[in-house]
Amino acid sequence: MLRFISYLIFLLIFSANIYAQKTPTTREMNLINWMEFDEFVPEKIETVLLPTGTLEPHGVIPNGSDNLAPEAMAKALAEDLNAMIAPTLNYGMTGSLAAYPGAFAMSEDTYRAFVGEILKGLHKNKFKNIIILNGHGGGQTAVLQSLAAELSNRLKVRIMVINWWSLASEDTFTVFQENGGHAGNNETAYMQAVTPEHIHPERYSGPEMTTAYPSGSSWAAYPFPSSIGLYEPGQGHPVFDQEQAEEYFSKVNDRVGSLIKEVIKKWDMAKLYR
Ligand SMILES: [Zn+2]
Repeated sequence: MLRFISYLIFLLIFSANIYAQKTPTTREMNLINWMEFDEFVPEKIETVLLPTGTLEPHGVIPNGSDNLAPEAMAKALAEDLNAMIAPTLNYGMTGSLAAYPGAFAMSEDTYRAFVGEILKGLHKNKFKNIIILNGHGGGQTAVLQSLAAELSNRLKVRIMVINWWSLASEDTFTVFQENGGHAGNNETAYMQAVTPEHIHPERYSGPEMTTAYPSGSSWAAYPFPSSIGLYEPGQGHPVFDQEQAEEYFSKVNDRVGSLIKEVIKKWDMAKLYR
């Protein structure tokens, strides 16, 4: 009998152990300890999500929207993708909005060197798939993409850069029946789903707070005269509907998640950098 009971206890402990090892106690690199990290990466977890953004004005939504959006996206997707989440890179290459209060801008050289070190660090920590969830466009996208190309070749690691607002353009048309904008309907909705308490429709005075981006090389103004920049004239003004915001949030996340899965599956099929 005693032997039977000790066998039962052994079974219980053993199965609890197996269960504990299936998923980590946290997906965040900031929160996990080094011993647990070692148990999971790279044996059980090969993918890391790296949110990148910047601090710049965004109409009536947070200055840190370019950081908070991809960070929320990473949290929404990590479990399904079996990925870890690297700490967000909150400072970036703010361009024509750098003059606005609370904005920060890093120079291209500094940013390139900084992100390069982060990517090398993620590779050193044995991740096979580095997925950059980028929240800020302009020159930053070009730097991230050229770094991805260069370091993937050099380090023999898979790197992907996703500009969510661009990838989700179809979802913007589906949900709003029109095109979006910087801090426009699309970004405002995504952020309203993430942090409704920091969205301030009472400060939105209407279309005069927006400017459509110039077509081609027709004009340029520095600083850009509005923090809400429309992709097309007359379209993309922010709306503040919570239900629509949540619908958009989940549509965008589904699209980003599917693309990541597809690309990783194809990298695996081709046996690249195994
Ligand atoms: Zn933004």
